[in-house]
Amino acid sequence: MQKELLDPLWVQYDYAKRYFKEFISERERLLPYLKPERTPLLLIDLQGLRRRYLEVKYHMPQFKVYYAVKANDHIEILKTLADLGSGFEVASAEELKKVLSLGVKPERVISSNPVKPIEFIDFAYRAGVSRFAVDSFTEIDKIVKVASRARVYARIVVPNEGSDWPLSKKFGVDVDTAVDILEYAQNRGLVPYGITFHVGSQCNNFRNWLIGIKRAAEVWQKARARGLRLQMLNLGGGIPVKYTYEALRVEDIAYYVRGLLQKFMPSLPYELQIEPGRGIVGDQGIMVCRVIGKAKRGEENWLYIDTGVFNGLAEAIGGIRYPFFVDKEGELKEWTIGGISCDSMDVIARRVALPEPEVEDYLYILSAGAYTTVYGANFNGFPVPETLCV
Ligand SMILES: *Cc1c(COP(=O)(O)O)cnc(C)c1O
Repeated sequence: MQKELLDPLWVQYDYAKRYFKEFISERERLLPYLKPERTPLLLIDLQGLRRRYLEVKYHMPQFKVYYAVKANDHIEILKTLADLGSGFEVASAEELKKVLSLGVKPERVISSNPVKPIEFIDFAYRAGVSRFAVDSFTEIDKIVKVASRARVYARIVVPNEGSDWPLSKKFGVDVDTAVDILEYAQNRGLVPYGITFHVGSQCNNFRNWLIGIKRAAEVWQKARARGLRLQMLNLGGGIPVKYTYEALRVEDIAYYVRGLLQKFMPSLPYELQIEPGRGIVGDQGIMVCRVIGKAKRGEENWLYIDTGVFNGLAEAIGGIRYPFFVDKEGELKEWTIGGISCDSMDVIARRVALPEPEVEDYLYILSAGAYTTVYGANFNGFPVPETLCV
């Protein structure tokens, strides 16, 4: 066995390096943008985005895709997806306006946040959006007030184990409550339309889809027994992308989900939806940063870069581990990567293997397309990275 294979630093960095090289060799168009004058910069590959969308469609042809706009709402990303026929999942008037400004018909838009401001429901319904997720009786009462003929789909709770960005504690109800909510909706004049769940973002555990589909089938049957005719099943988001480890592949998720649907919902006439966000745009973006400082603190080697958790790398404090690459050779060291602000929370990653860069050198953060710039603020006066779509 090669000596390197026993060295965890080497194994870690070799993975990031191969990822970077592969990413670029498939996208030579990006080469001229890798040493920009101004950093930080989020480079988005629109051709890769198209390819990824079509890949998801190809593997899940029965599903209508509603891109979750919150993952990255850059107008060129939305336009690229709109031109390919994608639908959109939105939660705010701003997101909806952006999507509609591209000429997308409101029938291609849904809103799956189960708790929405009433002003938004009103605005969306007037604009022609008529499908809303719910997970409480209160939400039905709100929708009745301003969107009296809306179609509603109930969000059920599923485990989010094995998801790097879990969501299940905030939303979702059990099977019986979901049926009660749908029945209540019907009694109040709304259309009980379907069921949704979310396995958690960056989901690498097949079992979450299993439980979601099993529970959805239960809701479906119980609803039917009460005379409710549901039409739609929405599997939410959760399709993962590669970070510092390989993620489940969309073809494997599709294959597994197909089997589950055959098993648990064999003869039901349903419309199928998915709402991927990260899974569409996450690995189509690379953040180009620069090193602004270095220090040794005790045993720790610190690198400071020109963006941080407040300007676009918020997910770094919630469990996402990005791969980092610097265009250097040399002995690997272990680094703690600090963000640009004065705040001590602003630490992007620990125990990162990298050859030693110098101040001003570029540092590349892979898989930075989703949930980065959209989270960014100008904390401490530092800008959100600019986005360049090429
Ligand atoms: C955030 C969100 C999504 C997208 O999730 P990803 O894990 O990024 O695919 C889909 N649906 C709803 C309701 C969401 O809140």
